[in-house]
Amino acid sequence: MIIVMEQNADEKNVGRVIESIEAHGLKSHIYRGTERTVIGVIGDTVGTGVNGFRSMPGVENVVPILKPFKIASRKYMPEGSVVKVGNVEIGGNEVVVMAGPCAIESDEQLLTIAKSVKNSGAKILRGSAFKPRTSPYEFQGLGEEGLKIMRKVKKETGMIVETEVMDIRDVPMVADYVDILRVGARNMQNFDLLKELGKIDKPVIIKRGMSATIRELMLAAEYIMKEGNHRVILCERGIRTFETATRSTLDVGAVPVLKQETHLPVIIDPSHAAGNRQFVGSLAKAGVAAGADGLLIEVHHQPEKALCDGPQSVTTEMFSELMPQLRAVAAAVGRVIE
Ligand code: PEP
Ligand code: MN
Repeated sequence: MIIVMEQNADEKNVGRVIESIEAHGLKSHIYRGTERTVIGVIGDTVGTGVNGFRSMPGVENVVPILKPFKIASRKYMPEGSVVKVGNVEIGGNEVVVMAGPCAIESDEQLLTIAKSVKNSGAKILRGSAFKPRTSPYEFQGLGEEGLKIMRKVKKETGMIVETEVMDIRDVPMVADYVDILRVGARNMQNFDLLKELGKIDKPVIIKRGMSATIRELMLAAEYIMKEGNHRVILCERGIRTFETATRSTLDVGAVPVLKQETHLPVIIDPSHAAGNRQFVGSLAKAGVAAGADGLLIEVHHQPEKALCDGPQSVTTEMFSELMPQLRAVAAAVGRVIE
């Protein structure tokens, strides 16, 4: 159940509602929006007297939520949430472009790509130090060494940086080096990892598992949010279907569905969906047209030499040509890409 406070409700009103929630043996989650405070009630509210809350001072409305995801639900925050990282807002009017290599390979590689994508208009640098590879014989990433490179490049370029965390034991270390942590598709239902990410004070991008439903993605986000971290960004990266012409099938429909069902920002990763750099631009444009709040694009200055995902990495030149097209699509749907 969600308790929506009146616009002029004060701290005393909020405090009394919380006391009452706790007195019922339930837990509360407070969200202080720009307009009003909303209190999520967690636990079994059946028989707790919804009407009792409704008549408390400062309470405007009590909304029962029957869906299994509560904090992530749009009802929890009808105006939509905005995830702020540094001077960038994800979920606002701007479509935030995140770009960079699949894997961090060297100082020179990351810095070259970072400078180029920044120059083209990317706000956030992506790059993985821990790689979840299908084969154990493939490049597994540079580990902490890669994170050190990322930190250096962040300092040098002033970019916000994001990376994947695979192992629950690495969460504090990774959170120390980067601005945004990413859960890869293969870990979307690693519930212990999700719970741990719920305890940190950094935004988390959670990618849809390649065989996960939209509902399962929302519930995975709920795992993180339930622990207290509400700065969650959902990412559609393509799902497994019978089609093999692309690496995965981009589920563009997931964007409007997720935007309707949740208040969380939704981004698109066209690279892992396409699996081929020739198709990345079209999928990226489709994502923006569908209402995505951001894009996560793999870019490499020498994709033929890339240690991971070279075939789907667009060149720095392709990326710089794509950006004006993305700006035009964004403008057509009332959004902006700076
Ligand atoms: C990645 O972003 O590099 C990645 C491994 O993607 P996914 O988890 O979507 O396969
Ligand atoms: Mn990749």
